[in-house]
Amino acid sequence: MQLQHSYAALPLTFWSAVEPTPVAAPRLLAWNAALAGALGLDPALEARAAAMFSGNAPPAQARPIAMAYAGHQFGHFVPQLGDGRAILLGEVTDPQGRRFDVQLKGAGPTPYSRNGDGRAAIGPVLREFLVSEAMHALGVPTTRALAAVATGEAVFRDGALPGAVLTRIAASHVRVGTFQFFAAREDHAAVRALVGFVLARHYPALADHDNPPLALLEAVAQAQARLVAAWMQVGFVHGVMNTDNMAVSGETIDYGPCAFLDEYHPAKTFSSIDRRGRYAFGNQPGIAQWNLARLAECLLPLINADGEQAVAMARAGIEAFAPAYREHWLAGQRRKLGLSTEEDGDEALAQDFLEALQAVEADYTLAYRALSGVARGEQAALPKSPGMDAWLARWRERLGREPGDVAARVAVMDAANPAVIPRNHLVEAALAAAAAGDLAPFEALLAAVRRPFDDGPAQAPFMAPPAPEQRVTHTFC
Ligand code: AMP
Ligand code: MG
Ligand code: MG
Repeated sequence: MQLQHSYAALPLTFWSAVEPTPVAAPRLLAWNAALAGALGLDPALEARAAAMFSGNAPPAQARPIAMAYAGHQFGHFVPQLGDGRAILLGEVTDPQGRRFDVQLKGAGPTPYSRNGDGRAAIGPVLREFLVSEAMHALGVPTTRALAAVATGEAVFRDGALPGAVLTRIAASHVRVGTFQFFAAREDHAAVRALVGFVLARHYPALADHDNPPLALLEAVAQAQARLVAAWMQVGFVHGVMNTDNMAVSGETIDYGPCAFLDEYHPAKTFSSIDRRGRYAFGNQPGIAQWNLARLAECLLPLINADGEQAVAMARAGIEAFAPAYREHWLAGQRRKLGLSTEEDGDEALAQDFLEALQAVEADYTLAYRALSGVARGEQAALPKSPGMDAWLARWRERLGREPGDVAARVAVMDAANPAVIPRNHLVEAALAAAAAGDLAPFEALLAAVRRPFDDGPAQAPFMAPPAPEQRVTHTFC
């Protein structure tokens, strides 16, 4: 495995060298052959994956480090977090010349572990594998999973659980919290170096910008607007949008207590630790902007302008999120509703559909998918209510002003409205089976979520919403 080390070339304050801690009996649980192929990795790697990606026999070129970062957790600033159980081995370059981090998660303690054991249990590891693959297939920017390896050791959470290590592939692991780590220490030189690193790595077209920190803020605002709009289209609740879990690349990162909506409600939270609903489904755009304001605070001292003007520029950078988000969201909603033209009333039409869904507690995913049937002139497979009937009449009238034929419209809708999402109850069941030694439900669900827009007969078992007794109301990380 060819590895580079651009992050480790940054000064020592950015990271700590740390070797993965060997495990007792590594065994490959899941291998992402498609991702390995896309990265241009040697197919023979799979045979050595258990040893290599448990940390027992890291690649010869690995230069393992844990990254330093800080972060606002549920609104409270913690000046030192860092990779407490993640170890960056290095960076690979794919055949298109794009660079990706290769990181082991759960590979043993690091200088940032605080009281943690540096380990991960099989459930969260396979959850991240499954949900990140689903997100990728749904077209949502995300970190990905290359391998999941059982350690043969127990980890102790509420009880003893089988341990595992996830290999995560990310455009980078630089977070808003990475900037905060140095800004809180008033280490402006480090923040400046990080700005240069991130622009070179993620936004090379901006590398020659005359005001690099401002260019970075604007670029991250755009990337986050696109990302969070994509979450909102598919009903994804991240669950822990702390600033240390917001990647400046614009990829979804850190699959902890995440979940997909079953029935639609904007106040929906799943995380057992999010008691006040800070990270509820409908709050996600606002939280993303709040996190951007924290990034702006880090960059402000470096913005090339005098005091008040720099503040105004930073504020404009943060505020650019809202219109960008709205534009992405509306463009996505138009695809979901089969609208190829733009009319002023479209935003209200999209919003009112959500209100109609909320009123009848309709399943978010199936309701949008059912609109394809309506567009084909079939009986609506939607919960009936006066509100829904009125909305459907408005939508049909709107479709009447659309050019193009029905088949083309339905094709666009079916490519925007997934039939299969990783349903929480199926994820929980698959992870419980895996922890008990049976990987078959995990593998079947993984195959289904990798084809989210396919509603063929083989997908049927994965499409149904939970029965009342199957509903998952709380997730744990
Ligand atoms: P998270 O809530 O997953 O974003 O993690 C917050 C912080 O806790 C990060 O600094 C993690 O590295 C750290 N952390 C989470 N779990 C563990 C663990 N088992 N051992 C050590 N550190 C951990
Ligand atoms: Mg995290
Ligand atoms: Mg986490």
